[in-house]
Amino acid sequence: MSLIVQKYGGSSVADAESIKRVARRIVDTKRAGHQVVVVVSAMGDTTDDLLDLAGQITAAPPSREMDILLSSGERMSMALLAMAIHELGESAQSFTGSQAGMITDAIHGKARIIEVSPLRVQESLDAGHVGIVAGFQGMSRESRDITTMGRGGSDTTAVALAAALHADACEIYTDVDGVFTADPRVVKTARKIDEISSDEMLEMAAAGTKVLHLRSVEYARRFGVKLHVRSSFSELEGTWVIPDPKDTVKIQEGEPLEQPIISGVSHDASEGKLTITGVPDVPGKAAEIFNLIAEGAINIDMIVQDVSMATKTTNISFTLPGEDGERAQEMLNAHKDSIGFESMDFVPQVGKVSLIGGGMRNHPGVSARFFTALRDAGINIGLISTSEIRVSVITDVELLDRAVAAIHTAFGLDSDEEATVYAGTGR
Ligand code: ADP
Ligand code: ASP
Ligand code: MG
Repeated sequence: MSLIVQKYGGSSVADAESIKRVARRIVDTKRAGHQVVVVVSAMGDTTDDLLDLAGQITAAPPSREMDILLSSGERMSMALLAMAIHELGESAQSFTGSQAGMITDAIHGKARIIEVSPLRVQESLDAGHVGIVAGFQGMSRESRDITTMGRGGSDTTAVALAAALHADACEIYTDVDGVFTADPRVVKTARKIDEISSDEMLEMAAAGTKVLHLRSVEYARRFGVKLHVRSSFSELEGTWVIPDPKDTVKIQEGEPLEQPIISGVSHDASEGKLTITGVPDVPGKAAEIFNLIAEGAINIDMIVQDVSMATKTTNISFTLPGEDGERAQEMLNAHKDSIGFESMDFVPQVGKVSLIGGGMRNHPGVSARFFTALRDAGINIGLISTSEIRVSVITDVELLDRAVAAIHTAFGLDSDEEATVYAGTGR
């Protein structure tokens, strides 16, 4: 028998009719011969309404009480959903986050999962019930208080349960047919994506695509949980989010479940940096510059534009292969008047050092440690760029090796033994 975790978002359980519809879907899954664990969000706008309500009482609600208040939204929907399933002739038992063994740290409003021990849910399944778990909440062992995991966190509850219970599938039911090429509310012609890698989904979620909670994507990528994002309003196949087995790890007893995984440090000394100063701060200038660069088939990497100056001009810097620098300058100089910039500064060789790993965005401590390591090594930073799985900076090329070593040490990556390099010069 396979075990399926299904998560239903707020819009899927917005009223009594919707709850009955969702119950039907769950019962159908159960009757098809599966064990079913359901994670539910609060009904419709309940979480926002509760926040409003608290705001009418006080401008500064104690965070402990706020979490108790917000966690009640999911309790309502889980109990009602269990009732609806009973009404259809199947049995279901609902559990709060703490009953379901979602153990978090004690940080109210954005608690992170430390451990998941869903014993009661497992017993309930074994006894033939549907297990229903309240989303986005847990309990801290330290403070013994109820915690919540941040807006949209029910997705993360579902993934964490799927990983802990070794579920065969984790389905995220929402109000659109899957993950689209853009928010279908904004771009009517957006297309549904059939399959996407966890890495790409991570970047989308980190950039604001809220159909999946960023932490749920991170968690699924780490523990190898395949996600199926689909609509609870249709029978259509949705979007599969597929983790790469090489990125996944096993759950380790005693290790906190949500923490960054640092893969390694990369460096590159093949690039130069071109800065164009005094660019008029009007629409279209970046387009002119980068169209020219594209015509020259020059690959660029990091791009940074300064904040506008009082002079209504700005500086644009980017990195490019060192050997393309002269050509890029010639092309830009040929259009100096039409672009209207003042001058250019080219450094033919700079160093780029990057820290690579999952879960950086949600752990501000990673950036803090990265920049502290560079400071302690006396290394000045030229440009900075970040993504969900990478922080990169530009340094003086002479200091690059020192930067790599400093970051490697700061993240505890140093081995006790020396690595063997058998031949070559590394050039
Ligand atoms: P739920 O309540 O089910 O958790 P959410 O509101 O959190 O649902 O997420 C679903 C919403 O995400 C959609 O209604 C849609 O407007 C929005 N969204 C934003 N970007 C995308 C995208 N690229 N693909 C699909 N949905 C998107
Ligand atoms: N109810 C919570 C929220 O609205 C959690 C969730 O829906 O995922 O953010
Ligand atoms: Mg959501």
